[in-house]
Amino acid sequence: MEQFEDFVQAQKLRNVRYDVRGPIAEEAARLEYAGHRITKLNIGNMAPFGFEAPDSILVDMIKNLPTAQGYSDSQGIYSARTAVAQYYQTKGMKDADVEDVILGNGVSELITITLQALINPGDEVLIPSPDYPLWSAITALCQGVPVHYICDEQNNWWPDPEEIESRVTDRTKALVLINPNNPTGAVYPREILEAMVDICRRHNLMLLADEIYEKIIYDDAEMINACTLSDDVFTITYSGLSKTWRVAGFRSGWMYISGPKHRAKNYLEGLTLMSNLRMCPNVPAQHAIQTALGGYQSIDEFIHPGGRLYEQRTVAYKLLADIEGVEVHQMDGAMYLFPRLDPEIYPIENDEAFVIELLRQKQILVSHGRAFNWIDDQHFRLVTLPAVDELEEAINGIAEFLADYRDAFATAGR
Ligand code: PLP
Repeated sequence: MEQFEDFVQAQKLRNVRYDVRGPIAEEAARLEYAGHRITKLNIGNMAPFGFEAPDSILVDMIKNLPTAQGYSDSQGIYSARTAVAQYYQTKGMKDADVEDVILGNGVSELITITLQALINPGDEVLIPSPDYPLWSAITALCQGVPVHYICDEQNNWWPDPEEIESRVTDRTKALVLINPNNPTGAVYPREILEAMVDICRRHNLMLLADEIYEKIIYDDAEMINACTLSDDVFTITYSGLSKTWRVAGFRSGWMYISGPKHRAKNYLEGLTLMSNLRMCPNVPAQHAIQTALGGYQSIDEFIHPGGRLYEQRTVAYKLLADIEGVEVHQMDGAMYLFPRLDPEIYPIENDEAFVIELLRQKQILVSHGRAFNWIDDQHFRLVTLPAVDELEEAINGIAEFLADYRDAFATAGR
């Protein structure tokens, strides 16, 4: 019998990592299969924690279901694209037009086609560290180079524009901005956003603004849409229904293109080609967009004092900050905390192994910092989605685990 070679993955996957769903999630699945109940603080999936879609969205989809069976226009249905354009008009983008909007199966797919249409092998994309790792993964998949700029934990997790600029080379194509940020919860102030826009202006970079958490903002933090800060920088803004409208499973998002489009004709043809290739986004979910963007915004109930997201964030922050050797910044937006474990007290050699140990001992699932392309082993991310009681129980479990770690380290050091 002839010996064939095994089927192997393409070499271009070599540098693609998506550890948020990697070995830790596999271990969690194994434990669940063995009958353990896992508290999942690892991904921003809102529905399982009782954050359900506004009824109006479901009704709209149900009503449109019979007529949503065929493919739609590959860029999306007209009414939904118009609603997105009008949304950005209300933000001050008075020229926003239906032609500037492409709908997709979530922001994830739109990130993918944006970068596929943009990157040649060796091209560089500036991406925050820590990041939402899809940006780095897809850049690598396209054989580009993710170049990480560092967000400064000592300065509210804001990036330093000078540091960003020092990483620009003649291969740099785009600057990715994630605001409000996952995983840090930072919301960037106007000066920093303006400086980032200016870097794009001076170095001829595209600005790719991932603003999927734009309506999940707390206290006095101010959300400024980056597209509103210039009319001369080619900007793509991403958002969608997964977070604010709590329907991540429906896979519905959009991108809005602004700035000097006449200079991007060829690129835009590439984007159109990419959206044609995937036929169209999920059609029933496109019908939810117009309803979502107009009228009453139910997310507001969650983000103010008394609201679930607000109260859960307050409790999570306080409990974590009370643990010896844990430093944590309170989030200004989104629903994540990214605490640091003091290396003098918790000298962690491998953050992934650390998180797996926490999972095995306490059945609590968080994500390790390096999964977000962060530079040390001293961080982890948790989502603050469970109700207060469950969150308290989980963070108390983390506190016990850390107390054991401290004791073990202190004993070993003696
Ligand atoms: N961008 C950021 C910053 C995210 O945190 C996420 C999901 O967690 C996404 C994009 C993906 O969004 P979607 O569900 O629309 O694909």
